[in-house]
Amino acid sequence: MFIGELKQDIKTLPGVGKKTREDYENLDIRTLEDLIQTTPRGYEDRSHRICIGRQNDEAGSWTNTFVRAESVSEFGPGRKNVKIIVRDTENNQKAFLMGFNRTYLSKTVFPGAFYHLYANITPYGTGLTSAQFELKPVREEDIMVAGDMLLDQGILPVYGLSGGLTQKIIRRDVKSALAKVPFFDDEIPQSLMDKYHLMPMDKAIREIHFPTSDKTLKEARRALAFREVFYLQLEAKRRPPVERRRQAIDGRTYDAEKRFIESLPFELTADQVKVLEEIRKDMSGSESMNRLLQGDVGSGKTLVAWVSALHAICDGAQVAFLAPTELLARQHAQVADALFRNTGITVAFLNGEVHGKPRQMLLDQLKAGNIDLLIGTHALFSKDVEYRNLRYVIIDEQHRFGVEQRRALLEKGIEPDVLLMTATPIPRTLALTVFGNLNVSTIKTMPKGRLPVKTYLVDDTKRDEMYRAVGVEMQRGHQAYFVYPRIDDEGNSDLRDVITMYEFLSTQKYPSFRGALIHSRLPEDEKIAILNDFSAGKLDYLVSTSVVEVGIDVPNATCMVVEHSENFGLSALHQLRGRVGRSSLQSWCFLAYEKTITEDGKKRLSVLRRTNDGFEIAEEDLKIRGPGELAGLRQSGFLHLKYADLEKDVSMMATARDEVDNILSSDPGLLSLDNAVIRRVLGLKN
Ligand code: ADP
Ligand code: MG
Repeated sequence: MFIGELKQDIKTLPGVGKKTREDYENLDIRTLEDLIQTTPRGYEDRSHRICIGRQNDEAGSWTNTFVRAESVSEFGPGRKNVKIIVRDTENNQKAFLMGFNRTYLSKTVFPGAFYHLYANITPYGTGLTSAQFELKPVREEDIMVAGDMLLDQGILPVYGLSGGLTQKIIRRDVKSALAKVPFFDDEIPQSLMDKYHLMPMDKAIREIHFPTSDKTLKEARRALAFREVFYLQLEAKRRPPVERRRQAIDGRTYDAEKRFIESLPFELTADQVKVLEEIRKDMSGSESMNRLLQGDVGSGKTLVAWVSALHAICDGAQVAFLAPTELLARQHAQVADALFRNTGITVAFLNGEVHGKPRQMLLDQLKAGNIDLLIGTHALFSKDVEYRNLRYVIIDEQHRFGVEQRRALLEKGIEPDVLLMTATPIPRTLALTVFGNLNVSTIKTMPKGRLPVKTYLVDDTKRDEMYRAVGVEMQRGHQAYFVYPRIDDEGNSDLRDVITMYEFLSTQKYPSFRGALIHSRLPEDEKIAILNDFSAGKLDYLVSTSVVEVGIDVPNATCMVVEHSENFGLSALHQLRGRVGRSSLQSWCFLAYEKTITEDGKKRLSVLRRTNDGFEIAEEDLKIRGPGELAGLRQSGFLHLKYADLEKDVSMMATARDEVDNILSSDPGLLSLDNAVIRRVLGLKN
């Protein structure tokens, strides 16, 4: 069995109920495959003894040892906390275990008795203390007979958590998921398994969760990383079978295109012109275009996409424009509708909510070739959607889509040209390593007449001034966004939440202005209605969670207020700021933060104050967070690698790429016996 075949819902696992399933869903885990492909973020080595006081030079700050309890006492208000003094049976080192709110300990731990202690120990004053510990009773005789073997619980995985999930629960569920699969088949051709001495899949998958040793863990990770980058490269490079020949798009600039560009109320920037030339050139080639267009928010990428779509349509092609969210898709459709009104181009919009007859009619028109440009969400690559001649695919905010989703759409066409757009800069070398044949275009210049957004950091003492400034802007007829990190106050949190803040703003601060509250739990049509009102100027301000983060385009909005800005990533903040400064009006971004902000947090925010350049911000993000994070790219679907490491495994990526090239040139149809496994993994018909 292949991992990719484990499509059962995780609720089929014993003990996984509705609540647990929801917690898993927050981690993007829905199926057994998702669960099994969740890589531990670390491991606890409980395979050998680490005495108290020895922990720092061995396994971080964890100990795994036998102790004798010396005293047990309750303390604190209501005597709810328990302090236990223990001594290591080997080196006699003392440690203070602080059980906060663990009253039961005073009834289950006895002075003079022996315990197996697993604890995170830290120095405190001159002593050693732990607030994070597990104590299990053991008999003195057993310690004498079995000795350190008793301490061996193996190497345990540590997973990312959410909600009520605990390590115990995830470990249990991973175990039962693994137990359901008798055998994981290898997914790499045998010749390569041999050549690179890769650990068999079945062993690798089990070892990555429950390793027998550091060495086997390393091998498991190497095998899984190889498989991952191998298929990534293969997906990027594989061409459909030869009988489906790509039809290149003529490279000349059509008259309709010229007229369209002339009709725009502005001139294209030099970079836009350059990128359009690059695209036309790519499209006229014998190989299909695979181009990444990166440029800061508001730099005019989407406009380039529209002109290039028109270019392809003039050549008789059908074009699909894929957007990551409903809201964006709808907004793009509205813009396209207006832009192409006088060009004779037929634009249509498709999402998951178009059902029944209207959907069927649309699909018929699409299949007949009467729709030139289809804009939408995932629905664009649903099973029943057929195009007549899809030759150009545009993917907006491409990092929101995975490799498989992109492929599903591409397969609806005949080797279509592909334009990926992103406002998250990706270092070129990295893109090349991962994707091989991807070309990159960059828009650096902003449209003429744009004033850089003025950014201010706002602490409690300046908050009132900020509200006043925004009021002045609204008085002038401009609009504002207020963004908060969450929806409602969940008890102990002191984050300003949208609902309370909306009340505060609408009653205390801006009673005479028209505001609205928008967040992700609102029904889609309400969100759309609110955004439409906002675009139309019927609302002065929006209070929202970060739903406005991507793509919303309201040039008259000049103020962006982000509360708890210390809780957002740099690139998210930069995206939010990109919602203003979209016209020749001066715009303002206020990054409000709480007293609890860390030094690092302040440093991060000051980067935004200093520069408006998204590339520079990404670089800074990299410096501050270290190369381990790569400006949030790791989380993005675009470069989301589960096992391989973008830096450490660069040479493995190159190796995999060479092997993929070899295979595709010597056996393009993947027909050899050795390559049969690839066909099966990709789900190709025999
Ligand atoms: P992006 O997709 O890079 O965020 P858009 O293409 O949505 O940027 O452009 C942002 C705004 O700027 C839109 O309102 C668009 O009409 C406008 N715009 C695009 N190109 C230019 C230009 N050359 N001059 C002036 N405004 C432009
Ligand atoms: Mg955009």
